Amino acid sequence: SVPVIAIDGPSASGKGTVAQRVANELGFHYLDSGALYRLLATAAMRDGVALDDEVALAGLASRMDIVFKGEQIWLDGAPVGDELRGEACAAGASKVAALHQVRAALLAKQRDFRKAPGLVTDGRDMGSVVFPDATLKIFLTASAQIRAERRYKQLKEKGMDAKIADLLQDIRARDERDTQRSAAPLQQYPDASLLDTTTLDVDQAVKFVLNGYQC
Ligand code: C5P
Repeated sequence: SVPVIAIDGPSASGKGTVAQRVANELGFHYLDSGALYRLLATAAMRDGVALDDEVALAGLASRMDIVFKGEQIWLDGAPVGDELRGEACAAGASKVAALHQVRAALLAKQRDFRKAPGLVTDGRDMGSVVFPDATLKIFLTASAQIRAERRYKQLKEKGMDAKIADLLQDIRARDERDTQRSAAPLQQYPDASLLDTTTLDVDQAVKFVLNGYQC
């Protein structure tokens, strides 16, 4: 069957950057599953749907028309801007992601991305729930402080302003919510290889994943 490399881990760990690089190296498709939860939060705010209305959100999730075009993402026929990467959107995403029916509604959408010659995907439950038969499973993490610093640099590059202390607080709150929820809680599942990037750069992390895949 079509190979899948699943990279899971906490917010701002750098898993998206690593996953995208690995996909480029191998010529595989790439799915940023967090973007789906962020898009749902965006659509809910657009339509005035409360972020805890599970039934309405699940309906919205299954109706969303999402197109990834290179770096650009389109939602229901309109391009989505940098606000998708902002903290408001991340916080909304982590709220809607805690709802069982929302996760169920997004399952098939995610599995549709598995196409030849292969898929690299990142999220929280790619190797545990969405692609339990993934060829390679990686749990990519880093200290909360380093993650806050990386997020700061990333936002800065996009011209967005932020304070590291605030980002650190956001990251800790999101970690807490992501690990404590009952629906697919963030955890290092047993068949994933641990990749701690606290003291690694992107090249080293990419090499680790490629080595794991080629073995
Ligand atoms: O990875 P990213 O920060 O874009 O994810 C945004 C939020 O979406 C996370 O805080 C998490 O709660 C949720 N998420 C999830 N499962 C995934 C990907 C993201 O619950 N596979």
